[in-house]
Amino acid sequence: MRTHRVDVLVVGGGAAGMAAAASAGGEGARTLLVEEGSRLGGVLDQCIHPGFGLHRYREELTGPEFAARLVAELAGVEVWTGQSLLEVEPERPRARAVGTAGAVEIAAQAVVWATGARERPLGALRVPGARPAGIFVAGLAQRLVNIHGLLPGRRALVVGSGDIGLIMARRLHLEGVEVMGVVEIRPYPGGLLRNVIQCLDDFGIPLLLSHTVVEVHGRGRLSGVTLAEVDETGAPRPDTARFVAADTLLVSVGLVPEVEGIPFAPRDPTTGGLAVTSRLQAAVPWLFAAGNCLAPFDLVDTVAALGARAGTAAARYARRELSPAPAVAIGRGPGVAALVPSSLVPGEEATLYLRASRPLARAWVAVGAGIVGRTVHGVRPAEMIGVRLSPEETEALARAGNATVEVIPA
Ligand SMILES: Cc1cc2nc3c(=O)[nH]c(=O)nc-3n(C[C@H](O)[C@H](O)[C@H](O)COP(=O)(O)OP(=O)(O)OC[C@H]3O[C@@H](n4cnc5c(N)ncnc54)[C@H](O)[C@@H]3O)c2cc1C
Repeated sequence: MRTHRVDVLVVGGGAAGMAAAASAGGEGARTLLVEEGSRLGGVLDQCIHPGFGLHRYREELTGPEFAARLVAELAGVEVWTGQSLLEVEPERPRARAVGTAGAVEIAAQAVVWATGARERPLGALRVPGARPAGIFVAGLAQRLVNIHGLLPGRRALVVGSGDIGLIMARRLHLEGVEVMGVVEIRPYPGGLLRNVIQCLDDFGIPLLLSHTVVEVHGRGRLSGVTLAEVDETGAPRPDTARFVAADTLLVSVGLVPEVEGIPFAPRDPTTGGLAVTSRLQAAVPWLFAAGNCLAPFDLVDTVAALGARAGTAAARYARRELSPAPAVAIGRGPGVAALVPSSLVPGEEATLYLRASRPLARAWVAVGAGIVGRTVHGVRPAEMIGVRLSPEETEALARAGNATVEVIPA
């Protein structure tokens, strides 16, 4: 097997990986970006709706337009598409990849992991009934419609009101599919408010809050599903069960960080993504990570910003300018559903990205029992809250030995 030598290896050519590769390359590091798909862009490629890039480019772009901007920033970066990264050695930044260029060993000084996230399937809901054709994860349906020009069915129901579910409800409606509604188990929608308005309200698509799918029907092809309201504990109320005829069920019930190939790197127990410090550095010091492989992010601008930071840090590590630093674990207190990073490097600036566990009109985000606090208005679990910490604040939290984050109604 031939060995290819670089300073920084970036795995995954979505927004996070492209931004990481552009920054590492910009730092003068010999950088290789490896993407298993046939083109760069990751999930952006199939997101043909606008809503990307308002922060990074101060323009509202579609997903492919945003991806094209990042591709244009890759001057000087070596890019391999159609090449899948199989594994990285636990002891050193040496990796094996296979694909259209054959089997290759890559010897690097630092690695940036940016492999995104995958969708949770229907199995995650434990719904009884058969598994006929016509049940799709929403991202796959999006790919079929937007890239391959294929319709998944004629009469559809969407389960899960996260952004992917909302966007696909509108997409199917615009393609002439009869969309019976979007079913959401929680009493509030899972996606951004702007998407609820622009994807459902504007097209008269019903949003069924506090509802779930309790049974799937059909032999060969889906014939319909049984829906029921749920009580405050999330348990279905049998007296409310009703059959809805549909030949298509889109499942959009969350994303799971993709972290295959590096089993030795610790995961964050709350997100399932890679555990990283505020430098985006994993426990193995030559490994950095950014984007949805840490936790599913709501905005691509944040993902690209994290990618750029991880790429710069990896290039500095490769130049031996970044030695490992002790980090203080960040605890997840009440009111916090997801949190990135997992630990803070004292005396360095850091940004915490968190999701609240429920909507709140006004909240107090407290870190370290109030050593640091911020008031946040209009908290929604779908929207990540960014809390920027100064070097003095990370130092104070480290001295107190307490960096637990809480979201408290205010
Ligand atoms: C349907 C949908 C709508 C969205 N709408 C918006 C919006 O309107 N506005 C907005 O700002 N954000 C939006 N987002 C969020 C944003 O687009 C994503 O968070 C972001 O693009 C994720 O980037 P990523 O690089 O982390 O992951 P991905 O885009 O998933 O990229 C990961 C890449 O890694 C590759 N890969 C994985 N494993 C390997 C391997 N072993 N070897 C080589 N390559 C590998 C994959 O093929 C993929 O290309 C949306 C997301 C979705 C899914």
